[in-house]
Amino acid sequence: MLKVKELSVEIENNLILNNINLEIPDGEIHVLMGKNGSGKSTLAQTIMGNPMCKISSGEIYFKGKNISDLNTENRAKQGIFLSFQNPIEIPGVNIFGYLRTIYNQTHENKLSPVKFREHTKKYLEMLDLKDDIYNRFLNEGFSGGEKKKLELLQCLVLEPRLIILDEIDSGLDVEALKIIGEVLNRIENTTILIITHYARILKYLSPSRVHIMSEGTIIKSGDINLIDQIEEKGFK
Ligand code: ADP
Ligand code: MG
Repeated sequence: MLKVKELSVEIENNLILNNINLEIPDGEIHVLMGKNGSGKSTLAQTIMGNPMCKISSGEIYFKGKNISDLNTENRAKQGIFLSFQNPIEIPGVNIFGYLRTIYNQTHENKLSPVKFREHTKKYLEMLDLKDDIYNRFLNEGFSGGEKKKLELLQCLVLEPRLIILDEIDSGLDVEALKIIGEVLNRIENTTILIITHYARILKYLSPSRVHIMSEGTIIKSGDINLIDQIEEKGFK
């Protein structure tokens, strides 16, 4: 599904990622961990095609195709989704209009406002959100937990093939964590890369592999037992 091959990335002429290799087969859940500043978000942003992240060598393959030169919009249309670590507030962008637009841009059968409201009712319920959220502006005045729920709502609307979650669990209270964990657990037939600092979200998911990043490179990969070792001994 996703293959990152010998990838090195610069931001403003600083080498941030150095020779990353990562392969996630179709349908698997992988975890990416590592200290702050180790390059996890940069890797996620590079896979999504953030133009700030300049690929100096290596390639990214998605469903067997080299996507390294595609722009972000086309990567999204291919089925890649990234939830932001720090979702930005965009006053003036109405959530309902925004969500319906991204749905209609990525689906063959376009939905009217009425049909879209019906179609997404179940998603709001899953996330324990009320539909008056649709009248608000993107993330404006949202709590940390609400922002993360809105990220996940976008994910549910888009129905991507590859979901990259950048610290979706950071700053959540126990209840919001449970809701988000259970929603992720219900998403089927999807490949997931979950970036996290904590084992607590993994209670809801069954990852097949865990990767540890340090100083811009993946220094160790292993099975779920690696997480227990990290909880015990830290990243050393
Ligand atoms: P993580 O997500 O693992 O905490 P990041 O990918 O956010 O790490 O950051 C990796 C490194 O890249 C850090 O040293 C950070 O300062 C640097 N970095 C990230 N974004 C920028 C940027 N826009 N300009 C310069 N350096 C950046
Ligand atoms: Mg980060």
